[in-house]
Amino acid sequence: MKNQIVIATSNAKKLIEIRSILNDMNFEILPQSHFKIDATEEPFHTFVENALIKARYASRLSNLPAIADDSGICVDVLEGKPGVLSARFAGDPSSDQKNNEKLLKSLENESNRNAHYICVIVFIKHEFDPEPIITEGIWHGEILRAPRGSGGFGYDPLFLDHMTEKAVAELPSQIKNRISHRGQALNKLKLKLNQMYG
Ligand code: IMP
Repeated sequence: MKNQIVIATSNAKKLIEIRSILNDMNFEILPQSHFKIDATEEPFHTFVENALIKARYASRLSNLPAIADDSGICVDVLEGKPGVLSARFAGDPSSDQKNNEKLLKSLENESNRNAHYICVIVFIKHEFDPEPIITEGIWHGEILRAPRGSGGFGYDPLFLDHMTEKAVAELPSQIKNRISHRGQALNKLKLKLNQMYG
């Protein structure tokens, strides 16, 4: 029987990406919804702290090893905002459309539109694992002046990938997953897990 791992996210689109990137691993990946675990508070100022609290919470309630993703978009001229508040940049209840509108408004008269996506992944073997595996992926790009494309989620219609010159929402999901912040961080995790578990 395959070892089971719980994925500590309540974001359905993130979960699809994580599952697709990890699909060649020798683990059975279970979403936290499988255990009726809801989203936990993310009270911290850094991605790594928020990823750790999510992983610990899901691991405790499922009694399984856990993987958590804390991610967001950081804009240079906004001193890293929306940052850890990316999901709720425009307030509660969270809405991708309202977040994107607020981001466009914040950069209305701005010519420097450089930004990056960041993803921090945490893997813990159990709630009190003193040696979490922590990996990170960063994807540089810039914020467009109007949305483009219909794929992905979150800020993808506004994030221009320099390499393809496309908005992320215009990229097929396999391409996004290959180059994204999440793809980079999860691929680093896979290498480490393969070293640990063979
Ligand atoms: P978290 O669930 O607290 O980690 O919040 C992640 C938020 O960052 C999402 O709700 C999006 O607003 C944004 N984000 C993270 N990764 C992506 C991505 O791949 N595409 C678009 N937005 C993303």
